[in-house]
Amino acid sequence: MTGARRTAQDVGEFRAEVREWCREHIPAGWREAQTGVGEEEFVAFQKAWFQELRRAGFAVPHWPAEWGGGMPVAEQIVLYQELAAHDAPRLVLAFVAIHHAAATLLAAGTDEQRRRHLPAILDGEIWVQGFSEPGAGSDLAALSTTARRQGDGYVVNGQKVWASGAAHADWCLLLARTDPDAPKRRGISYFLLDMGTPGIDVRPVRQATGESHFCEIFLDDVVIPRTGLVGRENEGWRVAQETLGAERGMTMLELAERLGNAGFRWLVETCARSGLSGAPPLEDPLVADRLAGFETELTALRALCRDLVERHDAGTSGPADASVVKLFYSELLQRMTAFGAEIAGPAAHAELRKPLSSGWESGAWALDFIGSWEWTIPGGTSEIQRTIIGERGLGLPRESRSG
Ligand SMILES: Cc1cc2nc3c(=O)[nH]c(=O)nc-3n(C[C@H](O)[C@H](O)[C@H](O)COP(=O)(O)OP(=O)(O)OC[C@H]3O[C@@H](n4cnc5c(N)ncnc54)[C@H](O)[C@@H]3O)c2cc1C
Repeated sequence: MTGARRTAQDVGEFRAEVREWCREHIPAGWREAQTGVGEEEFVAFQKAWFQELRRAGFAVPHWPAEWGGGMPVAEQIVLYQELAAHDAPRLVLAFVAIHHAAATLLAAGTDEQRRRHLPAILDGEIWVQGFSEPGAGSDLAALSTTARRQGDGYVVNGQKVWASGAAHADWCLLLARTDPDAPKRRGISYFLLDMGTPGIDVRPVRQATGESHFCEIFLDDVVIPRTGLVGRENEGWRVAQETLGAERGMTMLELAERLGNAGFRWLVETCARSGLSGAPPLEDPLVADRLAGFETELTALRALCRDLVERHDAGTSGPADASVVKLFYSELLQRMTAFGAEIAGPAAHAELRKPLSSGWESGAWALDFIGSWEWTIPGGTSEIQRTIIGERGLGLPRESRSG
């Protein structure tokens, strides 16, 4: 079922096909089986699930047809709705590879880079994004990792931080400064770094949830051949915008569907269970009112996502559309998980494990609430999104910036 797909009028039939596939292929009881497993088992499970989706033509539907995607947008929407409704595992490990790395290679890579990496990603190559540094997060252009020209390549020195999935990554999307004298956005280059290169030290960071999903990366005289440069030297800032733009559109649509299905379902189920006083919290009109409020907000989120995807597809997106959706999604996720933790009460704090492949909605509310903060920070914090909406969306005066 890969390659060019059927037209939009067959969408109903396609939905039935996906439903049947979900019933046959989603591993029964995966949530229980994956709760509390070690990193190795998590990685093996993620890779096996990715290959299952790939065999069906569902792993990279958003890629161009020539690389194994080409699914019409209407069918992609159906696919994500059905995967969410059937509570399929999430593609946590392959996320950066299939979205950020692929978008960057397709927009700015050479033919050789695309041929080398896109098929390898389908075979399971894992990628990490090495942008942030201890002194460069929101102000990414302040990064100080250097790449010095030497012979037919570059020698890289510096430190990256918060690199999600780096401990399992085969390749890294790396930003480094190649011209220390240029204005800060103009002296940056974009590289593809083989994580097996000598001089790389990856150190996992222990999170409040007990997981170690992201890492520090130390780079000590790491050599990158010239073939690893994406775009031109000193023009990496422009290429980085392709990477950062990868979270628009379909990824948000999937996240909204997941929150509206598993997320909301767990919330209602938690409220329907007997509470501390014996009666289920759902019988309290204030609780029912909050749930109704969330359902309304989820309907709004789905509408926003659909609009974002359709406008993106039609080439009529506004400069702040993606920021509106990201801001609304991440703060709704936070409100819902906070409410879940409140309703579940002290018991939620005793749940110290959740299935890593569930993403941000596992029903282990305290962990889900802590994890929800993962969305208000990366890819531009909520404050940065508000600035974008104010300046680019509403045309308010710009805040002063350097560089
Ligand atoms: C779960 C998670 C995963 C991540 N994964 C990756 C990854 O894979 N690769 C990677 O490279 N990075 C990753 N990051 C890093 C992420 O991109 C940065 O954390 C983010 O850009 C914020 O930078 P910072 O942490 O340095 O905070 P800072 O930029 O120091 O911000 C601190 C606070 O100041 C506010 N602030 C800063 N500047 C302004 C401003 N101009 N106006 C108003 N408020 C401002 C921020 O909103 C924030 O509240 C990840 C982060 C998280 C939390």
